[in-house]
Amino acid sequence: MESRHSHKNKPARSDSLWMLLFVIAFFLMLFKASAQCDTEESCKVLVLNSYHDGSYWTDRLMSGLAEVFDSAGNVECFVNYLDAKRFADDRYFQMMAEIYAYKFRNIDFDAILTSDDHALDFVVKYGDSLFPAVPIVFCGINDYDSSRTATLDEFTGIWEHYDAIGTIELIEKLQPENTTIAFISDDTKTGKLLLKRFLKNKDLLDPAIEVRLLNNMNFTDLCNEIQRLPKNSALLWASYLLQPDHTILSVPESLKKIRQCRDLPVYCIWDAVGKGAIGGKITSPKQQGKIAAEMVLQIFHGAKASEIPVRGGDLIYKFDYNELTKNNIKLEDLPQNSIIINKPYSVYEKYRSLIWSVIGLIVFLSMVIVALSYHIRLRRKSERTLKNRNEELQESRIRLSELNKHLEIARDKAEESDRLKSAFLANLSHEIRTPMNGIMGFADLLAEKAIDKEKQIEYLNIIRNSSKRLLSLINDLIDISKIDAGQITLNPNDIRLGDLMEGLFLFFQAEADSKKIGLNLDVDDALIDKTIKVDATRLEQIMSNLINNALKFTRKGEVRIGCRLSGDDLLLWVSDTGPGIPEQYHQKIFERFRQVDESHLKEEEGSGLGLSISKALVELMDGDIWLESGKEEGTVFYVCLPFDPSNRQINVDQPVPLDVKLPPNLHVLVAEDDNAGYELLEAILESLGVQVIRAVDGEQAVDLFKIYKTIPLVLLDLKMPRKNGFEALKEIREIKPDVLAIAQTAYVSEADRQKCFREGFNAFITKPIQHAQLHEMLVKLLAK
Ligand code: ADP
Repeated sequence: MESRHSHKNKPARSDSLWMLLFVIAFFLMLFKASAQCDTEESCKVLVLNSYHDGSYWTDRLMSGLAEVFDSAGNVECFVNYLDAKRFADDRYFQMMAEIYAYKFRNIDFDAILTSDDHALDFVVKYGDSLFPAVPIVFCGINDYDSSRTATLDEFTGIWEHYDAIGTIELIEKLQPENTTIAFISDDTKTGKLLLKRFLKNKDLLDPAIEVRLLNNMNFTDLCNEIQRLPKNSALLWASYLLQPDHTILSVPESLKKIRQCRDLPVYCIWDAVGKGAIGGKITSPKQQGKIAAEMVLQIFHGAKASEIPVRGGDLIYKFDYNELTKNNIKLEDLPQNSIIINKPYSVYEKYRSLIWSVIGLIVFLSMVIVALSYHIRLRRKSERTLKNRNEELQESRIRLSELNKHLEIARDKAEESDRLKSAFLANLSHEIRTPMNGIMGFADLLAEKAIDKEKQIEYLNIIRNSSKRLLSLINDLIDISKIDAGQITLNPNDIRLGDLMEGLFLFFQAEADSKKIGLNLDVDDALIDKTIKVDATRLEQIMSNLINNALKFTRKGEVRIGCRLSGDDLLLWVSDTGPGIPEQYHQKIFERFRQVDESHLKEEEGSGLGLSISKALVELMDGDIWLESGKEEGTVFYVCLPFDPSNRQINVDQPVPLDVKLPPNLHVLVAEDDNAGYELLEAILESLGVQVIRAVDGEQAVDLFKIYKTIPLVLLDLKMPRKNGFEALKEIREIKPDVLAIAQTAYVSEADRQKCFREGFNAFITKPIQHAQLHEMLVKLLAK
């Protein structure tokens, strides 16, 4: 069944197979006809030239063609020459056809490009058998008419376009003086065609121009004609390659001969530029070669040749630079887009865009450099400013940290002084209450009647010592406030050094004895009788302070006081064998309220003011005070003063013996508003056998004095109600000018003392009034 079936179907199947093969073949042919060659492989084109290699026209055409194919890249060119200028009979073409049939029997071309008439005619005649269905592109055809390609299927091309009229109009523009133009042509196919076309359009010319036709002449005749031309003539070289005797000339030969005949400007209408012609509006073989090659490429890319219209070639303006300059034709008079050959090599022209690009780049880079250097300058300036700011900041930081340090020191000092003041107040309270306790306590005990005499004396001594201690504290406080107010002034007077030192020694001897401490005086013999000018009271105060401290802090051993010369200075010292002062306190103890032991429970009394007062006084005397000591090593205090010796003889006041009696029945007026003060005075005076008359103020004193005019002496308090001591004395002196007057006051300063003497008082006694002092004063005054 199967075989039968297959037999039955066999003819139908072979029919379909044939149909299929036919369709494939058809499409292959179509494909072939459209000559769409695979872009992966190269496309093959047969270039068939009518003339020979070296022919002026053909070579230029080939150069245009090569330019396009070379840049396309995948075109394989088979270039062949028919050499038809030399061989052009039928037998020759027949033989060429046979050669090509053999030569290209294994090559399938994708396109055929023919140049000039003979090649096109050859392809029209033999192409069908040699290259069936291969599309054809022709160029260089002088006189195209479609009947020539009627037998071809797939073709396109360009025919040559000439414009002799256009070139003559160009001559008129460039060299208007040339009013006669000779049109030179030969009997070649091209020559005849060019003449024919010119004559056809001749009427378009300006009638002012005379055109002489020099056609198909032997050279002698041609030269004669040229020489007969008027002076202002130009030649239009259409074609002069074939002479009547069939001699063939090359383009350069032809132009050279003509130029040698007469030196007239020669223009051309196809590309003979560079061979002796100035140029013109010309047909360019190179241009034609390019256009034809581009048509071939279009076919390679799939276009059908029959769809690309047949067209005339482009005309261009082309000139020879050398000929232009020779004929004084300016470049700017030439039409736009003119091609100029043989132009002197100009780097600028050749690399114009490159040069401008480089100039642009340089300008741009210069601007960048300027911008960058400006930026760098700005940056440097900012860096400098920043550096300065940093330095300023650094300095401010240093200043700030110094300031901080000072502030810290000041704060520490403030805290320290605050602490010291608190300690001082506690100390002061202690220093006031302790003697007060002694005074008040023992005064109460004395009030009891049952106390025996011995006890009474003991208690009174305690009261006296406590009072002294209180008085010394008050004196210190007054001194320190005077120092602060700058009110301390020195009152230098002459004093014998021996007296000063012995006085101190005698004053402290009893105290040293009571503490069982040795007290020694160490004065240079040579100094004992020396008199110095110094504020003795203040110097005594300084030395007393130092001796007092030495005795206070020393438990056993000795205290030495002494003086000697040290260069020009007087050096006084107080040494002890006490506990010593640690190194770190050597400066501090001269500050007020400073004590080595600042606890409340310390054994020794003291306010911490003595040394600071001493230092202030020493400095006031232009001297210096310091100490040498170590812990448990004892202490030496030094006072160094400028040694100011005085030659004055000192009248040493002889101490008044206390048993000297005052005149009997002596009356004294005492003016005192304070009852306690008065009673003390009354008690002292009465114990001396003096009759006392009391006035409670200054006014009453004056009134009483008016009554008791004989009274020889008045004791006036300075500060009293209604009339003070000075006013009262003034009035009393008016009553009795020679009355003796003693100022008794709690004002203790030197200034107050001086004022009293200025206001007329004879003596000055400070409260608390001491018995012996007043006694001595009365004796001295009344004895005068
Ligand atoms: P005060 O004696 O009233 O305390 P000063 O100013 O006279 O005040 O002395 C200050 C401190 O110096 C004393 O408290 C003591 O600590 C120390 N000082 C002074 N003199 C001596 C000394 N000779 N030996 C040991 N310490 C002394």
